[in-house]
This record gives sequence, C-alpha cells and structure tokens, in this order.
Amino acid sequence: MLGLVTLFALLAGSLSAAEKLKIVASFLPMYAHTKSIVGELAEVQMLIGSDAEPHDYQFKPSDVKKIAAADLFVINGAGLEEWLGDLLKKAGGKKLRVVDTSAGIELLDNAEAFFTGSAADEEEEEHEHGEKNPHVWLDPVLARRQVQNILAALTASDPKNAAAYKKNADTYLEKLHELDESFRLALTVKFEKRLVTFHDAFPYLAKRYGFVYLGCITQFPGQDPKPRDLQALVQAINKHGVKVIFAENGYSPKLLEEVARQTGAKAGVLDTLEIGAPSADAYLVRMRKNLAALGKVWKK
Ligand SMILES: [Zn+2]
Repeated sequence: MLGLVTLFALLAGSLSAAEKLKIVASFLPMYAHTKSIVGELAEVQMLIGSDAEPHDYQFKPSDVKKIAAADLFVINGAGLEEWLGDLLKKAGGKKLRVVDTSAGIELLDNAEAFFTGSAADEEEEEHEHGEKNPHVWLDPVLARRQVQNILAALTASDPKNAAAYKKNADTYLEKLHELDESFRLALTVKFEKRLVTFHDAFPYLAKRYGFVYLGCITQFPGQDPKPRDLQALVQAINKHGVKVIFAENGYSPKLLEEVARQTGAKAGVLDTLEIGAPSADAYLVRMRKNLAALGKVWKK
C-alpha cells in the first residue's frame, strides 16, 4: 500500500519525457527572464495583459484557469503581487510551485512620497508605511539573483532539461552582467545624480549606481496627488534644487509635465518595465533604453 502511494506521488510530481513544463510568469520582467532560460523547452505565459500593471491587478477567471493548469508560477514577490493569495486560493492547483524570485534579496523600505500627509487619509498612510519596496528587478545585479532563483526552480521541477537551462541561463546572466557594466561605465561621468521619479520604482537602481534618491511623486501608480498637494510638490522640488524629474512609460505624463512647467525642471522618461508586450529580450532592451534616457537628460 505504501509503495503504491509513493508511486502515485512520484508520478504526480514528475513530467513524462515528451511533456513540457507549464510556466506562468506574473509580469513582464519575470516573463523575459524565464523565457530567456527555457526557450522552447517549456511553455511560458505572462499572466497580466500587455496593457495591465502589476500593482493593482484585477485577475480574471481565465487567469484562475491558467494558474490551475500551471506547474510553476514565477513571481517577483516582495509584496508586488498583492492579489496573489486570492488567485492561488481560487486556482487551488495542488501541483503548482510558486517561485519567489526575490527570495534572499535584502529589501528597502518604501520612500516617502512628496505629497504624503495632507492627501492620504490615515488608514492609507498606515498601510503604506513599513512596507518594503518591491521594485528589485530594476537593479540589474538583483535581476541576476532573480534569474538564479528561477533557474534553481526549473532545475528542480524539470531535471531532464537541467543542462540546457543552465547553459541558457549562463548566457543570459552574462548579458545582465554586461548591462550592469554599461550602467557603471556610463554613470561614472559627472551626472546630476539627484533622482525624483513618478512612483517609488527606482530606489534599488539608485542605490546600486550612487544616485541620491530624493523620492517619488506618488507611492503607487493610479494615486495622483490632489490639486492641493501639487503646490507642496512644486515647493519640495524647488527647495531641493531638482533639475530633472522622471515620468514613466505607461502612466500619464500630464502631472509630471505640469510640475516641470511650474518648477522649470526638465522632464525625462524612465521605464519601470511594469507594462508591455512579452518577449525574451524585453528586459535587456528596455533597461538599455533607461540608461540612454538617464544619459540624455543629465549630460548637459
Ligand atoms: Zn511599481
């Protein structure tokens, strides 16, 4: 009897030779990293749509089905996918393994938003304070750690392809290393290094490359400052002598443009990689654009 139970357990936990591992990645960077490692050896889908963002994602019945059928669910973790618990409860997949790619990474606290205080009601403030910042993927060095975590999970779940995964991951990790080197090299030039961004997405990037991160305009996208906070924001930017502020791809630049107009600061655009179409090279391509964007506004 015991032997039979063990046999069933083994069968349930392993793939047949022809069967491909079914992987769901929560959002764009998780998709790009995973796809770069597995190529065509496994099936990878991105959970959220190309035009959705991961912070306040409202999952759909079709997402529940995707998760219920998956072997691996690759997430950023660190509190980004707040909707994860409800989704897993609904999907109830017993074989599903959740891969928390930020495991082992030391997390930073959320920064104060410039407008925090007057607009946010007390309950909101309590909720925001003390939370860790999830945007680890925007530091290429930490992205390498995330890739290594994905590789470890793939190796354990699909040992027949372990050697191929390792080879692909090594190539991809080298490209991430080159990206990191490009940032280091470019940013040794004397740039204006005070960083103000639209939402709280770049503290890890700032810490890695020596920016003074003054803060963000809103902690969460979709929470714009109310008109009465705009003045406080303008004053803070003037007080700190901030010359450049960054809007973000996918989110309305209107607020930033208005602040830029009132303060005389230049407005650049940075990409959080939170929104967009899935592709294996999306992370590398779009992070290189971020480096170019930083260089462009700061060079003069
Ligand atoms: Zn974000």
